[in-house]
Amino acid sequence: MVGAGAAGIAAAREARSLGLRVRVLEARGRIGGRALTDHSLGTPFDLGATWLHAAQSNPLVPLAEAAGVELFDHDSVRDSRVWMGGRWASEAEMRDYGAAERAWHQAVRLAAARPGISLADAAPRGGFWDATLTHWEGPVIAAAEARDIDLGDYLATLLNGSNLLPRDGCGHVLGVLAQGLPVTLEAPVERISWAGRGVRAEGPFGALEARAAIVTVSTGVLAGGGIRFDPALPDSTMAAVHDLPMGLLTKIGLPAAGEDRLDLPPFGGLERRLEEGERAMTFVAWPFGRDHLQGFAGGSLAWDMAREGDEALVDLAFSELRRIYGARADRALRRADAVLSDWGRDPWALGAYAALRPGRGGAREALSAPMAGGRLMLAGEACHPNLAGTLAGAWLSGAQAARQAAGALGMPAGGSSSA
Ligand SMILES: Cc1cc2nc3c(=O)[nH]c(=O)nc-3n(C[C@H](O)[C@H](O)[C@H](O)COP(=O)(O)OP(=O)(O)OC[C@H]3O[C@@H](n4cnc5c(N)ncnc54)[C@H](O)[C@@H]3O)c2cc1C
Repeated sequence: MVGAGAAGIAAAREARSLGLRVRVLEARGRIGGRALTDHSLGTPFDLGATWLHAAQSNPLVPLAEAAGVELFDHDSVRDSRVWMGGRWASEAEMRDYGAAERAWHQAVRLAAARPGISLADAAPRGGFWDATLTHWEGPVIAAAEARDIDLGDYLATLLNGSNLLPRDGCGHVLGVLAQGLPVTLEAPVERISWAGRGVRAEGPFGALEARAAIVTVSTGVLAGGGIRFDPALPDSTMAAVHDLPMGLLTKIGLPAAGEDRLDLPPFGGLERRLEEGERAMTFVAWPFGRDHLQGFAGGSLAWDMAREGDEALVDLAFSELRRIYGARADRALRRADAVLSDWGRDPWALGAYAALRPGRGGAREALSAPMAGGRLMLAGEACHPNLAGTLAGAWLSGAQAARQAAGALGMPAGGSSSA
């Protein structure tokens, strides 16, 4: 396996359960990939994946529960408030927002009859809440601008069901599930040769030969040529890689300076109503009663911040909060101790998760198509048809690739081979 994120861990566990001998090569000095729980604020703070979405169909939920991980239903305490510019939205306005959201989704679903269009083409415009809703569904949720998202894929990957928060973080969950797997850290794979009957991975660690390989790096890493394939990956695979460019979602953790909790309850959501073309950050306050505020910037705003640097993101977060709280925001939060993610510049991710370009349906399938009769497979969040962009999708894709590789190797149940 190349990569010890959700897909690589799932692939390794599945392959082992099918009797294959496995080795996971991971470029970083840690496992978890885009699930990373930071502790520098004194409590767990996920810099990447945060929620176990679609809990009812999420394979990580029963695994985490069986491992004794505590999961909390975030939806049971959702309490969002919306800044209208100068004041909070009233209860009546929040009801209106809810109705507008239902109408927005209905309009978008109706537009599905026009294949190949973008989410922006389908999204209603001009209504009081439309720009806010389109910004939420595009940059905030899908980490990409609505104009850059294929409508059919957006609808196919809409998440249903509850959203659970692991109390100790998603990075912790993957750490628990990876226990006992043979992972070599700080082993960046630079070249994969797959011309012969086996597969050979090379890097500063030396060379490793196996009968099959599952490569779980992001489409950002693949598009950037982070691994040289010999022979080159098929044109159809590379086309799929380019049709699934990485979006970006950036997170910031802002610790409280004192007792002031900005009148927000634990888990309180904070957003503002937007005009067409406006971009903004959103916030979740004091998760589990912990003393930090989480901020999110997505899509083009996040890419701009990645280009401008960490200070720009901190400035942005404070300028958003000052709109509401004025100088009180500066007194309530410790700017110097902010914790930030940097997935856009991280060479082992180069983004947060992939969004399908409009009109490029079929790319996720093409990306996960077995190569060399199943001896070389790509897996990861971008490969999953319905749970793309999530830990669950990455997990299921990795496990599926392992089963396909085992089948390609003609593994008799309980036999032994290497992948
Ligand atoms: C800010 C943010 C918020 C998110 N929020 C959520 C959420 O709330 N819920 C959710 O379900 N999902 C969320 N996601 C998405 C989720 O994190 C990803 O879908 C998932 O972690 C991807 O797993 P993966 O195994 O496909 O890829 P990765 O986790 O990227 O794993 C690939 C691994 O390959 C390694 N690698 C890269 N190049 C090489 C190389 N050359 N050699 C060896 N190893 C290499 C990487 O270091 C990495 O460990 C979020 C992501 C981000 C960034």
